[in-house]
Amino acid sequence: TPEIISAMLERIEQDNIRFLRLQFTDLLGLPKNVAVPAKQAEKALTDGIGLDGSSIEGFVRIEESDMVLRPDPSTYAHLPWRPRENGVARFICDVCKPNGKPFEGDPRHVLRTVMADAAKDGYVFNTGPELEFFLFKMLEGRPTTQFQDVGGYFDLAPTDLAEDVRREVILALTEMGFEIEASHHEVAESQHEIDFKYSDALTTADRVVTFKFAVKTMALMRGLHASFMAKPIYGINGSGMHVNCSLARDGKNAFYDPDAPLQLSETCMHFIGGLLKHAPAITRVANPTINSYKRLVPGYEAPCYVSWSASNRSALVRVPAPRGNSTRVEFRSPDPTCNPYLAFAAMLAAGMEGIREEIEPPAGANGNIFHMTAAERERAGIGTLPGDLAEAHRALLGDDLICKALGPHVVEALTSVAQAEWDAFRTAVHPWELDRYLATY
Ligand code: GLN
Ligand code: MG
Ligand code: MG
Ligand code: MG
Repeated sequence: TPEIISAMLERIEQDNIRFLRLQFTDLLGLPKNVAVPAKQAEKALTDGIGLDGSSIEGFVRIEESDMVLRPDPSTYAHLPWRPRENGVARFICDVCKPNGKPFEGDPRHVLRTVMADAAKDGYVFNTGPELEFFLFKMLEGRPTTQFQDVGGYFDLAPTDLAEDVRREVILALTEMGFEIEASHHEVAESQHEIDFKYSDALTTADRVVTFKFAVKTMALMRGLHASFMAKPIYGINGSGMHVNCSLARDGKNAFYDPDAPLQLSETCMHFIGGLLKHAPAITRVANPTINSYKRLVPGYEAPCYVSWSASNRSALVRVPAPRGNSTRVEFRSPDPTCNPYLAFAAMLAAGMEGIREEIEPPAGANGNIFHMTAAERERAGIGTLPGDLAEAHRALLGDDLICKALGPHVVEALTSVAQAEWDAFRTAVHPWELDRYLATY
């Protein structure tokens, strides 16, 4: 509306902003942006800014490549690491077609559509992610896999570079409107986690993209490389992005029922039922890289079986102890290479089907699933997550509900990405093969 636009223009003026970054994400969830001088703000907010979509991963073919970026005014944020004077602010944008309609390949649009469907039943999907990452040393301007510290879980290191990076990240993100809840050293050397407060899934997905960008920027400013790769180093923990999920209805947490078993409402149990049913297909978007599957193996606190539990961390879906308004389910398979919009969209679609079809999850698995035999798992109805990207992609293609939630454009684009990645990986000769065979044969 004109009022919002004029308030926005005033704010840009007050904040001394000279440059606007119009940001959006491609199919892979990588942030892209066009910078425009602040003088263009009125035009950008009124008519949007043109974009050639043909060079963006997963967008469109050459012959239909004219796109329009429409800044979402609620996402305005001053970039605190840029100079105060003549500063830089960003907007996250919706990507539209020349006719003004939303573009089906815009991940934000995909998530919005699934959220609008859940809103028909009165639900708001809230997500709270726990992002893990490594800080590595740089050598001659290139990232290495050399640790920057040798700390462990919750360690209190002597003041080191990592502590400074975490501090800078937290200060910057707080300035950008994040409410940081915790930050700690993770299990592995040089591995860290920073958690921020949950919000509706669209806001959270925007924040995940901003978060990764901010962490990388702060690390770089201290000469370090922040990596969100799922499993950068064999033999130690990978980096996950556990997602705490809940549904709100009429301002109340719909997962909480003080009178139900475990105080988990039927809605919550059905949501879990839906998540577990569609877990293999969700994996394609929650774990989208070849490397993602090196993390989903036994022994490193990452899930590989399809189960839920109210008590142990080996399950795919864990229900953390807090109840009341904090009742939530923690979906533990996603890793930070995922496109958060697509991952949240798939999770919500699965959970909503669970609720609408009243899908009962199998009994909770309360022992350590990694100690069960294959036969014991089978008897308990515990399936296995896809073991690689190709298998995950087949699971997606075989799952009508998740395909429908993502839409044909995105599914087709994901298919070409999966094929190209898988072929490149499958035909490469890896160092492991040389170690194993070169001398022997
Ligand atoms: N890094 C583990 C994972 O890959 C999680 C460790 C933890 O948060 N306890 O999911
Ligand atoms: Mg955590
Ligand atoms: Mg963690
Ligand atoms: Mg966790």
